[in-house]
Amino acid sequence: MELFSLGGRVAIVTGGNGGIGLGIAKGLAEAGAAVLLAGRDARKATKALASLGSEAGRCGFTAADVTQRSECQKLIASCVARYGRLDILVNNAGTSIRRPPEEYNEAEWHHVLDTNLTGAFLCSQAAYPEMKRSGGGKLINIGSMMSIFGAPYAAPYAASKGGIVQLTRVLATAWARDNIQVNAILPGWIDTELTRKARREVEGLHERVLARTPAGRWGVPEDLAGLAMFLASPASDFITGAAIPADGGYSIQA
Ligand code: NDP
Repeated sequence: MELFSLGGRVAIVTGGNGGIGLGIAKGLAEAGAAVLLAGRDARKATKALASLGSEAGRCGFTAADVTQRSECQKLIASCVARYGRLDILVNNAGTSIRRPPEEYNEAEWHHVLDTNLTGAFLCSQAAYPEMKRSGGGKLINIGSMMSIFGAPYAAPYAASKGGIVQLTRVLATAWARDNIQVNAILPGWIDTELTRKARREVEGLHERVLARTPAGRWGVPEDLAGLAMFLASPASDFITGAAIPADGGYSIQA
């Protein structure tokens, strides 16, 4: 259906070389988009590209550290050089360091904020002129349940993910006149490298998540694909500034 088609569109997914980013990249590619995966680890990217199967020919990888403004700019430039345009940017790259708030040093705080929040801002800033030039675009920021809730081990992570929602609203208001829609996805608990580590570090997390998720399971990266495809497609052209949970009901259960 034309309304949901991404044929001829070009997307960048930061952190698309694994986890949720790869789940989203698969969905965008299946809907017809050419997808450029971005991240730091090229070996992981080779495996990720291979997992895209018949869509892999339309997709590629560019190494980029989103904490560095110059690398964000080069990422956008390499996308335009390769595909001629940029229609969709998924700001998904993220990380966490878990400890009580009183124990973080400044470098740890900045590392999480720089990756999760500043990285999304820098990539969006770099993408804006290109989207404006081509008459519009879609920005999709990845928040978290920590955009809504707190947790005793997540000071910089939750601060960054709360910030992602506000950044989404600001960019949505600023760039609506350029036909750029900006929305956030708030994933529930998804089984990835990030949360496998969390399950090792936070006692009882696995069971608490299962008990509170009405769907009765942890999510998988592919669970995020459908919403991302919608937010990347013309079907969502009148939706902007929204922060939409994709969480198996986690956020509606006390
Ligand atoms: P993963 O650790 O599996 O993936 C994170 C990705 O981000 C990796 O591909 C990594 O690639 C990339 N990345 C990390 N730092 C940088 C950087 N500085 N520059 C470029 N890329 C970077 O985690 P998830 O898939 O779980 O997380 C993806 C997003 O989803 C994150 O924003 C996370 O906060 C969010 N999220 C995850 C949830 C979950 O339950 N899993 C729940 C809610 C939100 P590389 O190492 O190659 O750089």
